Amino acid sequence: MAAQQSMIGDAIFAALALLIAVEAIVLSLAQHILTPALRLSLRRWQAGTLTLAGACAVCAAVSVLPTPIVAVASSLLVTGGLIEYHRSLRLFRGRLLRRRDFLPLAVATVGVLDFLFVCASPALLTAVTAFVWVWAMSDCLRMIVVDGKGEAGRGRYTMAGIFALAMVLTLVPASRPIFFDTMPGTRGDWRMLAAAIFLGLLPIVGATVFLLMCVDRLKSSLELAALTDHLTDLSNRRLLGTIGKDVFDRTRARGTRFSVAIIDIDHFKSINDSFGHAVGDEVLVHVSQRLKESIRKSDFIARSGGEEFVVILDDPRLEDVQATVERLRVAVECSRFPGRRGISVTISAGVATYHPADTGFDDVLQRADNAMYLAKSRGRNRVELADEPMWEEGEDREAGAASAGRRGSR
Ligand code: GH3
Ligand code: MG
Ligand code: MG
Repeated sequence: MAAQQSMIGDAIFAALALLIAVEAIVLSLAQHILTPALRLSLRRWQAGTLTLAGACAVCAAVSVLPTPIVAVASSLLVTGGLIEYHRSLRLFRGRLLRRRDFLPLAVATVGVLDFLFVCASPALLTAVTAFVWVWAMSDCLRMIVVDGKGEAGRGRYTMAGIFALAMVLTLVPASRPIFFDTMPGTRGDWRMLAAAIFLGLLPIVGATVFLLMCVDRLKSSLELAALTDHLTDLSNRRLLGTIGKDVFDRTRARGTRFSVAIIDIDHFKSINDSFGHAVGDEVLVHVSQRLKESIRKSDFIARSGGEEFVVILDDPRLEDVQATVERLRVAVECSRFPGRRGISVTISAGVATYHPADTGFDDVLQRADNAMYLAKSRGRNRVELADEPMWEEGEDREAGAASAGRRGSR
């Protein structure tokens, strides 16, 4: 009876080892759809999966290998597999690999040496490996949950659940492979099933979920790329349209206000003509950086096309808007374009504020555009306020008064 149970146990672990190894091969089929950075992370996940396949193979050989050897080898292989998963997640988070990531393996090796040569206590080996595995897995969990805050949730939360379950199984000694391998009579009963679940969880279910995390990452980077200007890294015209509509609808619903500034680089064509298109591109990046570091967190900036930028500001008073945009103008004028003498860059800006009579974001944008052309016609390197529609009695006295007293600035 015991021999029959043992054979069933061997067969289960052999099948598990085979399935996990196949899973590792299947992972490589997905490589070509991933970015190079994600591919590095996938390779480490694959290495972890193959290492756990090795742990299962060792467990399957318990009838032919001495029990202490099985206990020691399976403990070290599981530790190695978890370390590879940990390294995979570090790469997934864009971090470098470090030698000290192998520290859990060093501690497990000390436990193993103690088991082999000092006290030969399975309970102590179980405790040491439990500590090391929980240590490695809790750091994986931290990287998934805490460091991944703000990322897409599907794959991330499922992976967090898998690590949490694996940690719980680790803390139940009966479910640990080395427990039944070193305790006669446990092979073939329910505890062996729990051990098989523990060993199969991360390499089989985890591999699929890891791919899901990669797909989530690819999807959000594609979405980001569709909304970002590739040269300046600012939001592009498409996102400007979406954010602009949102701000307009919110402002209308709440009865608040917002302003828009259109900023255009002066004589940009002559910069291109004199220094070449590549230098023109550098100027665009330079100006976008100066603008980005000069706006406040609550403001939104986009490159709306060519050498033109749009800033959405939430200042309630027109004078404040004018002062803010004037600060942007000065920031660009006073900045030194790095590396090349003789390139001075200035901007002209037009500012308009929301009016209840506006039917959409484009109305405000159009007035800001008119004001920007006024700034160009008045000599460039200046900020002009748009000709705002008259405010009705009670709409917003303060804004109306500011609007009446507007003037250009330089
Ligand atoms: P103004 O002061 O009236 O704005 O004159 P300007 O020369 O800046 O304006 P104009 O519209 O005549 O020229 C804009 C130039 O910007 C023309 C176009 O080739 C160039 N441009 C548009 N997009 C890019 C880009 O991505 N990179 C570079 N280098 N040039 C660009
Ligand atoms: Mg221009
Ligand atoms: Mg232009």
